[in-house]
Amino acid sequence: MKVKNISNESLRNQKFIVDKMYRKLSRWLRILGYDTIFDPLLNDSDILALASSEERFLLTRDEDLEQKARKLKVKTINADGKTIEERLVKLQKQTGIELTLPSEILSRCSICNSKIVSISKEEILERILDGTEKQFDAFWICTNDNCKQIFWKGHHWEEIANSLKICQELIDS
Ligand SMILES: [Zn+2]
Repeated sequence: MKVKNISNESLRNQKFIVDKMYRKLSRWLRILGYDTIFDPLLNDSDILALASSEERFLLTRDEDLEQKARKLKVKTINADGKTIEERLVKLQKQTGIELTLPSEILSRCSICNSKIVSISKEEILERILDGTEKQFDAFWICTNDNCKQIFWKGHHWEEIANSLKICQELIDS
């Protein structure tokens, strides 16, 4: 039985820590709902300590860091590829992540990794542009007080969906 294809949010248990070289992938992992640490201020030993104690996959192409990780039995992933889609598929093959959006709404802030929640348009009116206000009705906000990023399903949403479609084609080919 293949467990890989079950698309249940609660199964999105894989956790990640991402080094500086994979910044874009860290945002993608969060969009897909995965708990992902990306912090350029962390040094190698911080990264290894977190990966080891929290059982996180380590995304890196730093060979030195990879070697140290292996000694600590931290699983490292090299997700190189020409396009973001190729990288995501490589990641999927090594970790079994779901390359579909977790639900109709986003679940995790792509900026800071915190949970995001639905918010009414009235509450955030002064923070969005007129055009956005007219075009969209559903909004979400990051629950981290230091972030408070607002999200809506704008043009970016279609790009995400399109990239995920390309990923699926790569997997099927
Ligand atoms: Zn945030």
